[in-house]
Amino acid sequence: MAAELSKKRKKKRKKYYRMRKNRVGASLFMFLLNSLIMVGLVHGFAFIFMISSINSNIEDEYKTKSALVRIYEMARSSGSTGYEVFDTAGLDYFIRNKDGSIGHTHGKITCSDSFFSYDMPASYGDPSLPDDELVQVDLYYDTEDQLISKDSKGGLGFDVKNIMKIALDRLGLFFGAGDSSADDRGYEDLDIEMPLWMGIDMKDGEQTLVFKADIGMRSTAVGSLIIVYMLMIVLFVVILITMIIDAVTAATDHHRLNQLIFTDMKIKAKNWLWFMYNAEQKLEAASTRRHFALADVEFVGFRRFCACNSIDEGETMMSDVYNSINRLIDKKELCAYNAEGRFALMLEYTDKDALKERMDKMLSELGNTGHESAAAFHAGVFLTDANNLNAKEIDIEAELANASAACASLADNEGTAVAFYDEKFIEEQRWIDTVAQIQQKAVDNEEFMVYYQPKYDPRTNELRGAEALIRWQSPEYGFLPPYKFIPIFEKNGFITEIDHYMLTHAARDQKKWLDAGLHCVPVSVNVSRAHFIEDDLAEQIRDIVDSEGTPHELIEIELTESAFFDDKKAMIRTISRLQSYGFAVSMDDFGSGYSSLNSLKDMPLNVLKLDAEFFRGEQAGTDRGEIVVSEAIRLAKSLDMRTVAEGVEVKEQVELLASLGCDMIQGYYYAKPMPSADYEQCVRAGRSDPESEDVIPVKLDKPGEKEPVPV
Ligand code: C2E
Ligand code: CA
Ligand code: CA
Repeated sequence: MAAELSKKRKKKRKKYYRMRKNRVGASLFMFLLNSLIMVGLVHGFAFIFMISSINSNIEDEYKTKSALVRIYEMARSSGSTGYEVFDTAGLDYFIRNKDGSIGHTHGKITCSDSFFSYDMPASYGDPSLPDDELVQVDLYYDTEDQLISKDSKGGLGFDVKNIMKIALDRLGLFFGAGDSSADDRGYEDLDIEMPLWMGIDMKDGEQTLVFKADIGMRSTAVGSLIIVYMLMIVLFVVILITMIIDAVTAATDHHRLNQLIFTDMKIKAKNWLWFMYNAEQKLEAASTRRHFALADVEFVGFRRFCACNSIDEGETMMSDVYNSINRLIDKKELCAYNAEGRFALMLEYTDKDALKERMDKMLSELGNTGHESAAAFHAGVFLTDANNLNAKEIDIEAELANASAACASLADNEGTAVAFYDEKFIEEQRWIDTVAQIQQKAVDNEEFMVYYQPKYDPRTNELRGAEALIRWQSPEYGFLPPYKFIPIFEKNGFITEIDHYMLTHAARDQKKWLDAGLHCVPVSVNVSRAHFIEDDLAEQIRDIVDSEGTPHELIEIELTESAFFDDKKAMIRTISRLQSYGFAVSMDDFGSGYSSLNSLKDMPLNVLKLDAEFFRGEQAGTDRGEIVVSEAIRLAKSLDMRTVAEGVEVKEQVELLASLGCDMIQGYYYAKPMPSADYEQCVRAGRSDPESEDVIPVKLDKPGEKEPVPV
């Protein structure tokens, strides 16, 4: 698993690397290659140029000195020493006898011992000889002048660097402005002498003339060489400049392209790709002891905000939020815009609670980002340690998707909130999936049970009604209270099916008890908000109750207060139709929301159910709380509505409610929700005596105690 992830990560990194890679390296390589070729070319050219120039020099020397040798030989044969022939020619030379002894010297002898052989057409020295006959001459280096030397293979070597230096020096003198002596030296001064000592056999090998040959590069050759060098340098500089410009342009283009790839241009923020690239690198380099959190932060209602204002304003807002987040996070943490009002964050933490606190603080600060109305933010957070992963094992894409799933679970929450993707969350998600899979089977197998919670008149303790409350006896998951599945059904839409189920079974029970001759009281059934959207809801309810043959007055419909925010006209129509069919309609949980009074104004309701919060909240038992309850009851009465107080657990409250004229009490003080068989006993008894120990139903022993579950 970890190996697979590492492979995946490496592959991804390669992809990003390729994207980010600068081409400067390639340009540099090309530049170096070009330079090398250039230097090679120049040197090669110079070398060939020098060789050919020197070869022709050697051959010229040989030719002229061979002529002198012939004159010398003629002079010798006429009795003279013949030396004057060479002396008048101004040679530095010596004559070596066959046995190696030096016969005669003249001038400065700087001939070295090392020599090499040079082949040349014999016709140079003697035009009478054929062209293809070669004659071998020995060449010796000059000990003072090192411009020509032996190369590593024993051939002719040139000190190109020094030759060029001398050439340029002389060129400087030659062109030297205002230096008259340089002018006088003239063009000739460009000559570069590179003397070699040359041996020419005389008197049929009896003697050898070894003389300092005037070898070198003539001014024209040096001039041409310098011009070629100059041209090459100019060309080289031009190519260098072109390449530098090219490399700089490529680098800036590349930088711009990178910016483009890694930036959300609309809100000028780093984007998802940037986040992935950097997060991967950070996690890979991080020690396994560090804890990381990946968060998906969402501006709640981004689209609505854009629709109400404008897309531009939405984007400006996101840009501000992005900047705020960056101010609130550490430099080594990451934040990127992930489109549609969402941000991806990578944070570091040591303690989950501290992180939760930090997130809460951050989101509430974001809520005040430069806009008049406070904005709400949701965050889904994936934690490494909560999921038993270390930094190197995180698959960022997958875990951010999990953080998003946690964030999505907050969808119903209008305010700012944080959800963690941890064991608990995963368990919840699994449960949501499981419920969706088994819900239909549970209905088909009649796993849902109707529990009844009686409503009593607090003054007489007489049974006045009951509320049908669902319970799920699942063969796999045991006995489940409504909070475990009703919110899931409300989300996945199955609630309408459940409402039908409960109505059918409650009506069926009522009919059964009626037929058994019991004195039945109305049973209220909860109808969900989702259900109220249906146009023919009143007719559906009527038909279900009719199909069980139950009188309509024995069924009451409970609507939760939040349902009253929907389409008011349609709601009033449905309520009126239900009433016209003889069903009483009650408003559930009155006082738990904000718009209750307004709803009361418009809705022609029969019953008002005071929310349990009245008797449990902070105001409960205080004078102010009492005033609110008494006024609510008074208001209901003036609107010709009956009142039911929910969640009443203690005697004092019952007595108070009785004194305030509350019609019914549905609470643990009298009875908890109970299976239908137990409720049947309550109906048979018709009244309750909560003070007695052995009454039906069993009264609550301690406030807040849970109802009994069937075995
Ligand atoms: P609700 O409609 O407000 O139901 C009243 C809840 O308060 C019941 O919880 C009941 O057991 C509880 N209760 C009543 N008296 C007391 C008391 O003195 N002390 C305490 N601590 N609790 C008391 P229950 O049965 O768990 O139902 C919870 C919610 O589930 C219901 O709130 C209702 O919104 C929903 N629900 C239950 N059955 C159905 C159903 O058949 N259809 C629909 N749509 N929703 C249902
Ligand atoms: Ca209810
Ligand atoms: Ca209620």
